[in-house]
Amino acid sequence: MRFSKYFEFLRSLSTSSQRLRFNRRYVTVSEIAQQFYCEEKLRLSIIEGKVETEATVLGTLIHENLLRGEELSLEELLRRIESGYRVVASLPLVGIIDEIPIVGIPDAIVFINGIASIVIELKTSNKWLDTVFKTEYVQAQTYAYLLHELNIASKNLIVSIAKLKRDPEYVKSKRLEILKEILKILDQVSITPIIIHKKDLTIHCMPFDESIIHDIKWALAFWKMERELQPTSSLSRCLSCEYRHICSLCNVRKV
Ligand code: SF4
Repeated sequence: MRFSKYFEFLRSLSTSSQRLRFNRRYVTVSEIAQQFYCEEKLRLSIIEGKVETEATVLGTLIHENLLRGEELSLEELLRRIESGYRVVASLPLVGIIDEIPIVGIPDAIVFINGIASIVIELKTSNKWLDTVFKTEYVQAQTYAYLLHELNIASKNLIVSIAKLKRDPEYVKSKRLEILKEILKILDQVSITPIIIHKKDLTIHCMPFDESIIHDIKWALAFWKMERELQPTSSLSRCLSCEYRHICSLCNVRKV
């Protein structure tokens, strides 16, 4: 059965006795990605709770409206994927790397003939549509890594980061239109890397990068407490950080 490893990892997740930093038993893909922005910010978000900003609220709203589809049980979804039809789905991925359980839910995975052909991560931004940040790269490539570890990825898996203008209009009017647009473009993509520009939307397509495992292992060393936390030294990151007023490591000079 194609998903046998998937269920094996799911079982080991529920029985894991791992004790990691912050007394956690597993790490999420988005936490691994956030470590490449600033590990102190990640620590504060865990200790103090997430701070909602206009950008995060709008980003969540766009995600929920743009990507909401039919809800199925996991069994039914896997049955449809295995049936061989093209299925676009968001489902939790699991894996074990360096004995640490990793979990994460990519925004969309396109399955063709029962295997993942494209993994899509949607990001919203006011102006950085043409730039893929390290955090975004690590997140999308880590999903691709998990798909390969689960033996459900095509050897030509396309990793796609779709960057959409953070505009409230997209919440109401453009839901299916944008997702269809992304899929239509990706259908025609066979060579990667490639960048496709549309109005208020840039789609970055790239091949799977096996070397992402080095970044993942660097991130996991923090969770295993094998190294100290590494805060950013970037002034611009601190300037746009919602925790800067309580952060003792902030690079912005306080007056
Ligand atoms: S203010 Fe700077 S150092 Fe402090 S958490 Fe934010 S990004 Fe990190």
